[in-house]
Amino acid sequence: MANGICIFAEYYNGKIEPVTAELITAAHFIKETTGEKIQLIVVAKDCDQLVKQLEPAGADEVYAVETKRDCIFQDDALSSVITDMIRKIEPSSVLIPATPMGRSIFSRVASKLGCGLTADCTEVLTAKREDGTFYIKQNKPSFGENVFVTIETKPGIYPQMMTIRQGVYTAYEGETDAVKVTYLENIEIPASKLEVVEVVPARNDTNSILASETVVVGGRGAEEEEDFALLKAFAEKLDAAIGGTRPLADSGKIPFQNQIGQTGFTIRPRICISIGVSGAIQHTEGIKDTKLFVAINTDENAAIFNVADYGIVGDMKELLEAYLS
Ligand SMILES: Cc1cc2nc3c(=O)[nH]c(=O)nc-3n(C[C@H](O)[C@H](O)[C@H](O)COP(=O)(O)OP(=O)(O)OC[C@H]3O[C@@H](n4cnc5c(N)ncnc54)[C@H](O)[C@@H]3O)c2cc1C
Repeated sequence: MANGICIFAEYYNGKIEPVTAELITAAHFIKETTGEKIQLIVVAKDCDQLVKQLEPAGADEVYAVETKRDCIFQDDALSSVITDMIRKIEPSSVLIPATPMGRSIFSRVASKLGCGLTADCTEVLTAKREDGTFYIKQNKPSFGENVFVTIETKPGIYPQMMTIRQGVYTAYEGETDAVKVTYLENIEIPASKLEVVEVVPARNDTNSILASETVVVGGRGAEEEEDFALLKAFAEKLDAAIGGTRPLADSGKIPFQNQIGQTGFTIRPRICISIGVSGAIQHTEGIKDTKLFVAINTDENAAIFNVADYGIVGDMKELLEAYLS
């Protein structure tokens, strides 16, 4: 009988990735209803120090496979190992970070296990069937990000597997009970067809809306060339990243990875300054835990003022020109 909420613990350079803690929060929401154990899985050459990092993370069990060689980025081999692990653990669900690594490995795992894989969930909810079994409602934007859909894995098919977008859950900070650690033996680490020639660390992008403490968010009210140039100069002065609403991403003013909202990204900056944004729920859903939220809009009835701490009713052009002069 499938049981357990399993999480793939991704790591890089000997450190567990912060997204693991976010998935542990999601797992705790599921556990509140189903009462299942939260299980972390990790596959690595030097497993011990990764297991040590996972022990206080908030799960009930850690399952590890120690590989003799470094398998990082050898997704063909890793997917085979993880498939065998899941067959042994038999969880009812697997939560995977929607990162390039998570997507690449688990599309292969899903194929090997013959189960589905929902990509890029922004919310996971539990529900009960008439026969008393629980299942997970996997909510995600779809059809060109224009609608929200709920995906359910067919009854009787386990595990329910889903990748979850980074940033939609906060990192788990609750208590950790005694954790049971199991090193799984007798799992074959197959040869890989991939040879890793060089690992180049990702650029630390200080302009990332996910990393910056201050984010200036532009909306359609700041879309005109001249207005957007002002917004950029303002952001530069504050050393802030620039995010935007969906219309700005659609028009190419900002790249998609800087779109904030239900079908974009979720940000948690310390300071958010919103300029020419009406405040549609699909947008404001993507701004969480901000300590200071300031909004500028010409329309005193704009919905953005309902979520902002401080609102300035005025023309962004006049205000920014005055500030920058
Ligand atoms: C399924 C679905 C998913 C969606 N996902 C997202 C998403 O992820 N992110 C997202 O942003 N949107 C999303 N949307 C779109 C969302 O509903 C809104 O249409 C969008 O957020 C509006 O963008 P906006 O505020 O820039 O534009 P508008 O709604 O047009 O607002 C522009 C604002 O600028 C103000 N303004 C105009 N001129 C000035 C000026 N000179 N100075 C100051 N203020 C000025 C206006 O008063 C107005 O309030 C989604 C919609 C759907 C249906």
